[in-house]
Amino acid sequence: MVNVQNYDVLVVGTGVSGLFLALHMPETARVLMITKADLDESDSFLAQGGICVLKSEDDYDAYFEDTLRAGHYENRRDSVDIMIRSSQHVIRELARFGVDFARKDGELLFTREGAHSAPRILYHDDCTGKEITSKLLTSVQKLSNVTILEHTTLVDLLCDGNCCRGAVLQMADGSVKPLYVPNVVLASGGVGGVYEHSTNFPHLTGDALALAMKHGVELENIDYVQIHPTTLYSQRPGRSFLISESVRGEGAVLLDKNGNRFTNELLPRDLLTQKIYKQMKKDGTRHVWLSMQTVRCPDVEKRFPTICERCREEGIDVHKDWVPVVPAQHYFMGGIHVNLSSKTTMEHLYAVGETACNGVHGANRLASNSLLESLVFAERAAADISLHEPKNNTSDSSLFDPTAYENLTQYFADNISAVQAEIVRQKQRRAQK
Ligand SMILES: Cc1cc2nc3c(=O)[nH]c(=O)nc-3n(C[C@H](O)[C@H](O)[C@H](O)COP(=O)(O)OP(=O)(O)OC[C@H]3O[C@@H](n4cnc5c(N)ncnc54)[C@H](O)[C@@H]3O)c2cc1C
Repeated sequence: MVNVQNYDVLVVGTGVSGLFLALHMPETARVLMITKADLDESDSFLAQGGICVLKSEDDYDAYFEDTLRAGHYENRRDSVDIMIRSSQHVIRELARFGVDFARKDGELLFTREGAHSAPRILYHDDCTGKEITSKLLTSVQKLSNVTILEHTTLVDLLCDGNCCRGAVLQMADGSVKPLYVPNVVLASGGVGGVYEHSTNFPHLTGDALALAMKHGVELENIDYVQIHPTTLYSQRPGRSFLISESVRGEGAVLLDKNGNRFTNELLPRDLLTQKIYKQMKKDGTRHVWLSMQTVRCPDVEKRFPTICERCREEGIDVHKDWVPVVPAQHYFMGGIHVNLSSKTTMEHLYAVGETACNGVHGANRLASNSLLESLVFAERAAADISLHEPKNNTSDSSLFDPTAYENLTQYFADNISAVQAEIVRQKQRRAQK
């Protein structure tokens, strides 16, 4: 049995943001990482397209402008600048942890996705997320100061006014325990699990958001939810399978029910989604078509092995058939408001990755900016936590009321309803403005 009391930092989530943060904590810091599922069940493992990087100084202005234009100029400019300026360092760090990107003759290859004015995305086949996350995980598992617990769920935060003193956890055996810890990092991903159709893992239900609302921690733009224009239309239940934007970046075209092109395939995601919905309404169909026969790369199977395989499972041969595609919930631009060091408005509470909103994405995320943003701001959180001695020790038992968690099924259901209702409320409020 793990003693959950002797830690300096609790990291909730084992996706790229949580893992990168753990890798950048000093060896003297005792870190506990928890995930509510298996270790390979995070959205980070699902990322297909790639990760952006500033290729050269010449591309800075264009990359900055592409990010802002996609985000409808609602982005926080200082956050965007930090992300772009840190990108080469992050890629060097990933290489240090063994991450391998596509190369030709030893030189890195760059691909392009929608709304990018130039190819600046590094990739590993069509499973970049798996390559990055599995290598980071292996590196974290070698650290003696980090403990990882699977099937362990954040239930609540222990708060003393506006100061976070720890968390309430549901352990793998079902027991509920308080953990008093000087710093808590919320790295718990997006909100796909509260939607019927989503590319996300269903257990990503915005738990941290519900707790932030409960304890008065500031949120930002939580109605900014990205719909991905192209997921595989399927009768099978479960997670929607993504057909990555890089397929369109490499030349795939969208077709209406008569096989005619009806749009520019490389529009920003929100605009392309609108075009597709409009076409579906006009055609009276439940999807549009994607033809991969126009993809320019010489070996489609080699470039997009996961996508080709998944289509085959549905009886679709991408070499001669069109692929039925439909939009689905994909990404969460809003989240728990954080500053440039990933600190929330509550003392000793940090948020990183998709759970956090540092303003990088504005109203709409530019493709392949999220892995990068998660990594950059996770490292900044680690630096900030390390700067401060863990003086926030308490084990004030009055902060923990076990009776509040007697019916956890209802408790979690209420949290999901609260998140859904708040997203709708924010959307309505914005529409009235
Ligand atoms: C299909 C798909 C393709 C994508 N492709 C790209 C791409 O090509 N490029 C790109 O930049 N981005 C892409 N993204 C987005 C990107 O993958 C995510 O934004 C990023 O990986 C989020 O990382 P994270 O660390 O914030 O969260 P995640 O990787 O989602 O991890 C969340 C973690 O939190 C845990 N958790 C959640 N709630 C609790 C709780 N209550 N208690 C304990 N643990 C909890 C989960 O179990 C999980 O371990 C894609 C996303 C999807 C779904």
